[in-house]
Amino acid sequence: MDLLKKVKNNNLKGRGGAGFPVHDKWSLVIKAKGREKYLIVNGAEGEPGVKKDEYIIKHYTEELLSGIKIILDYIKAKKCILFLNHNYIKYDEKIKKYIDSSYNIEIVYKEKNAGYIAGEESTMLNILEGKRSEPRIRPPFPTESGYKGSPTLIHNIETIYNIYLVSCSQYKKNRFYTINGEVKNPGVYNLPANYSIARILEETNNLPLFKFFVQHGGQASGEMLNSSQLEKKVSGSGAITIYSYKNNNDYELIKRLINFYFNSSCGKCTPCREGTYRLKEMLSKEKMDWKHFLELIDNLENSSFCALGSSLALPIKSYIKNINPKFKPEL
Ligand code: SF4
Repeated sequence: MDLLKKVKNNNLKGRGGAGFPVHDKWSLVIKAKGREKYLIVNGAEGEPGVKKDEYIIKHYTEELLSGIKIILDYIKAKKCILFLNHNYIKYDEKIKKYIDSSYNIEIVYKEKNAGYIAGEESTMLNILEGKRSEPRIRPPFPTESGYKGSPTLIHNIETIYNIYLVSCSQYKKNRFYTINGEVKNPGVYNLPANYSIARILEETNNLPLFKFFVQHGGQASGEMLNSSQLEKKVSGSGAITIYSYKNNNDYELIKRLINFYFNSSCGKCTPCREGTYRLKEMLSKEKMDWKHFLELIDNLENSSFCALGSSLALPIKSYIKNINPKFKPEL
């Protein structure tokens, strides 16, 4: 069967966090006739607590590179750029073993200080073109005008691995979960994509016996859930972090989140640049103005230029709603 049909029949979704259907992306790039096409593989993996791409690079190097070659052939792309987290340079030799001269595959490592935003796809395109590290206005989308203005297919490492599995009829609708925090068996696990958080914790022998809460998706943008809400599926980049009530306090956890976003903001838009600065400033004051704090969070959610700024609201709001009933900001 034709590969594009197989991809569609398997209902393959991107694993970078947004879950866009792979078939639709391919169709758009293939339709863009008469222009050079590019494949960019996003392995920037900058969100704390997410380690699945590194796991695939380390354990499934050959499969990953086979997936890249299969896509290059299928969409007739001129070149592939493998954009990787700077820490993954330790796998450089291993990856290069599977790159032969008949394919134009370049590896680019994200700079150490490039931060979380470097993994946002339009920011990544800017970086690869030597431009300022900030998101682009969309549309146009990369499938129409991406790398150097050409139609560009951008996939996360896990998506490429899944495409490889689909191509050889081995795809079992699994996904990779990074489990971390206060657990007995931290690590990356490959389990069915339709498992609930509770089931994943049970199967990996990580269901805590103490009073705990969970952040799922990633340690920055992930939603916070209490232990009675674990029938949900894992969102975003597939990470699950366990926190004990005993070892966490509201203030420190919110401060960690705000600091992460403050340090990750690229500074392009006012709501995120000024908003994260003000939120950080407010947290440092002796008496917190929670009403103003939450208004600023709403502002970031609704008017940030890119998903980084808007994604700050979910962990903070879900923490306030779901986790600590004693934590009542003075509103
Ligand atoms: S929301 Fe604005 S300032 Fe924040 S990372 Fe995106 S573009 Fe940059």
